[in-house]
Amino acid sequence: MSKKIEEELKKIKEEVLNCKKCSLYKTRIYPVIGEGNHQAKMIFIGESPGAQENKTGRPFCGAAGKILDEVLESIGIKRKEVYICNILKCKPPRNRNPQKEEIEACVSYLERQIEIIKPKIICTLGNYSTAYIMEKYGLKDKIQGISKIRGKVFEIENLKIIPLYHPAVATYNPNMKEILKKDFKILEKFR
Ligand code: URA
Ligand code: SF4
Repeated sequence: MSKKIEEELKKIKEEVLNCKKCSLYKTRIYPVIGEGNHQAKMIFIGESPGAQENKTGRPFCGAAGKILDEVLESIGIKRKEVYICNILKCKPPRNRNPQKEEIEACVSYLERQIEIIKPKIICTLGNYSTAYIMEKYGLKDKIQGISKIRGKVFEIENLKIIPLYHPAVATYNPNMKEILKKDFKILEKFR
């Protein structure tokens, strides 16, 4: 494992643990920085920590995480192979949607994570990370609601961006799990 990668990720971790750049620091228990393979080919970007993540500091460890694990497993991908993080590092109150100012305040951490890990495939989970990443990589005019662009592959130079439904869509609708599994199948050929 590269020492430089470890050092740079550790630096982000320390900064996030002390971060007060938006008001979400006031109500968080633990920020959720990200977890997985620090040299992953594939990175998954969710929205923001939920209650369970806030208590543990680990991404996708609650109900949505259980679904994500199952869907990844269905295509033979292990969590420790990939890197998993969120666009916001701290939990919004009542799990409301991320606000524009919060995203603006927080994304520099995500951007640095991407620069350090250098994934070849960015899987965005849900509307917020999809819109943010597509705009960042010059695909603003191709942004549509997630139900329209899920499973599409956008290529920019050596990078693939693949928007997917957020796994939480299946929490109250078990039929969605099969749709998630079908959509995630596109990832099999890129791993
Ligand atoms: N939902 C997210 O977007 N991220 C998590 O880490 C958990 C739930
Ligand atoms: Fe800082 Fe991001 Fe947490 Fe806001 S959400 S306090 S910007 S780490």
